Amino acid sequence: MTGRADRPPRIGFVSLGCPKALVDSERIITRLRAEGYEIAGSYEGADAVVVNTCGFIDSARAESFDAIAEAMAENGRVIVTGCLGHEEEAIRARHPGILAVTGPHQYEAVMAAVHRAVPPRHDPHMALVPPQGLRLTPRHYAYLKIAEGCNNRCSFCIIPALRGPLASRPAGDVLAEAERLVAAGVEELLVISQDTGAYGLDLKHAPSDWRGAPVRAHIVDLAEALGSLGAWVRLHYVYPYPHVDRLLALMAEGAILPYLDIPFQHASPAILKAMRRPAAQEKTLARIRAWREAVPDLAIRSTFIVGFPGETEADFAALLDWLEEAELDRVGCFAYENVAGAASRALDGQVAETVKAERRARFMEAAQRISARRLAAKVGREIEVLVDAVDEEADIAIARSKWDAPEIDGQVLVAGAGRASPGARLGVRIAGADSYDLHGAPAAPLGAEAGAGPA
Ligand code: SF4
Repeated sequence: MTGRADRPPRIGFVSLGCPKALVDSERIITRLRAEGYEIAGSYEGADAVVVNTCGFIDSARAESFDAIAEAMAENGRVIVTGCLGHEEEAIRARHPGILAVTGPHQYEAVMAAVHRAVPPRHDPHMALVPPQGLRLTPRHYAYLKIAEGCNNRCSFCIIPALRGPLASRPAGDVLAEAERLVAAGVEELLVISQDTGAYGLDLKHAPSDWRGAPVRAHIVDLAEALGSLGAWVRLHYVYPYPHVDRLLALMAEGAILPYLDIPFQHASPAILKAMRRPAAQEKTLARIRAWREAVPDLAIRSTFIVGFPGETEADFAALLDWLEEAELDRVGCFAYENVAGAASRALDGQVAETVKAERRARFMEAAQRISARRLAAKVGREIEVLVDAVDEEADIAIARSKWDAPEIDGQVLVAGAGRASPGARLGVRIAGADSYDLHGAPAAPLGAEAGAGPA
């Protein structure tokens, strides 16, 4: 199958993995559409299929191999990109007929492979792509990738090997993209990178031009400028470097959302040391207290790994105590996986799978209790939410507060708001809470503003 003469060439797209990979997919799809390719909704209708893979942990790796196998079986003309690209030999051994294998962010190489497999048609009407690009996320929120790669060497992680050292985008480029997104109706910008607090270190924080004035490539300056655009600005993957305190000042002013996503991963000093975590220190509880004093409405999200090699019951108990005291709002927990190529694989004291699973369950039970307690304290308040979707029949809007990131955190279910538009902001009075979600009703009758969001 290669593009038919009577219709534009069609490419199927399978996107796996994290939000960072999603941004890569969006860029490739934007380029494809700009060149006149259509995106096929099924394998049968596609002239070739791009599979954007994830190779971070073994389960994601297995999922990626499955997706490649499925695309080969269903279509047979497959281009692989993304994190699994570093396993080209293994992929080709299983599927000798694969058209091309490229690594993450290799947009040019993916496009070249598509051109070889399915040449573009020359069509004068084909460059009709909106200037903000095409996004796979709903129209009212968008991920904004500010850097690639990472300078840290956490012992369980192969991302630096896969993606290379930190490479930041100039602040002017990021801000121009953010401006285009907001002009196109985006109400929430989700700032992502591997290590958001380190943004600009590789550029020595060199300023670049935005709106005729210099802006430094530094997360504090960038966050402040993003905050001036009128959209919600949410920062992900911020490590507790000292300058995080200056981000808290921006949250206190309302310039960016009072939301800190800090992957702490553990609390036991011995385990943090073995993990080689950046900015790991013993005073995190004191810092969390200080942050909450500065921004009482702050939500802290984090992820943790249990069952890391060498983790004793005492280390795990220390983690649970720390969690109770830190009272984090949103928490994810993974059982340690012995990822191929990670330094931690060689460590002594590997923990049995049953122990990992049991610790994870105990951890999530504690986290759920804490989440329920913190959400219950919000009952009776009036808050602003952003509507993600509506169920007109049930007359309910599914929305998020400033404390909830899409897909990973909770929701606010708003009764009587089935007429609101996705992307609208509503004032909601909170009437109830469960372990992860809030429930409420519009604080005022739904007026024109409820339908004012992007369609
Ligand atoms: S900070 Fe650590 S876990 Fe995160 S990408 Fe860098 S090396 Fe991996």
